[in-house]
Amino acid sequence: MKSFTYERAKTPAQAAAIAARKDGVKFIAGGTNLLDLMKLEIETPQHLVDVNGLGLDKIEATPEGGLRIGALVRNADLSANEHVRRDYALLSRALLAGASGQLRNKATTAGNLLQRTRCPYFYDTNQACNKRKPGSGCAALGGFSRQLAVVGSSEACIATHPSDMAVALRALDAVIETVRPDGATRQIPIAEFYRAPGTTPHLETALAAGEFITAVVLPKPVGGTHIYHKVRDRASYAFALISVGAIVQPDGTGRVALGGVAHKPWRMESAESALPQGAKAVVARLLAGAKPTEDNKFKVTLVERTLGAVLAQAKGVQS
Ligand code: SF4
Repeated sequence: MKSFTYERAKTPAQAAAIAARKDGVKFIAGGTNLLDLMKLEIETPQHLVDVNGLGLDKIEATPEGGLRIGALVRNADLSANEHVRRDYALLSRALLAGASGQLRNKATTAGNLLQRTRCPYFYDTNQACNKRKPGSGCAALGGFSRQLAVVGSSEACIATHPSDMAVALRALDAVIETVRPDGATRQIPIAEFYRAPGTTPHLETALAAGEFITAVVLPKPVGGTHIYHKVRDRASYAFALISVGAIVQPDGTGRVALGGVAHKPWRMESAESALPQGAKAVVARLLAGAKPTEDNKFKVTLVERTLGAVLAQAKGVQS
């Protein structure tokens, strides 16, 4: 691991200001992804800003009837929160499908959103990777791509986003609150938070330099049956081959977001009008334009079958 300096921020705005003022700054909270990346020298920050003491660890009702989740709320606490379990069960279930109990005790809400891909070539510093080293190429394109993206990818990168939580937040229309180095705040809908890989896959989010996530806000609950179905190679502690997060209303309408298929949680609101017609009709729209590889073309069928199972499960719960 490369050496680095360290300090504790006293306020969110101060954390953002430090990141803007110095080169090579990374925020650290749970560190469940960052420390691994630092040990492998994939991330080599010169200065770590510890944000654990900022008091952003509360889950509070909003005046609009929604929920504000502090950026530092641990994944375990969020999944167990009674309001989340009752009104946003999709989020609780997605969190519990991710990582392990130990990791969920440390991992934070903002850190979960910002975790890096698990593309194996990203983690192997002997391999070309445009995301790790811009302009170096993409070893995954001619390599083993079973886990990687089938839609929304580019010639430069076919990585997937690994978060289960983000899939639920996309279906729930979450909004990400931030503070910038000048103290200004802004709200970013999660639909606009993740960037397409394009020719710059190392740029992953809409965050500006130094911009710091302070909270994730959920709109008021929408009801319905909440199901998160994750398909993976082993029963726990594995990233999704694909996942389906769905909110299904008694009349058959609803929302669907996918994990494990793209560089971001994948949702197309225009596909959801086909929900009453069944999984095949939805997936035809949701994955229109998919460009799978030989290794991962099974994912398209797997999404269709998994969504079919989810819709059948919702019907069973509601009947
Ligand atoms: Fe790197 Fe993306 Fe290619 Fe994986 S798919 S090797 S993360 S550029």
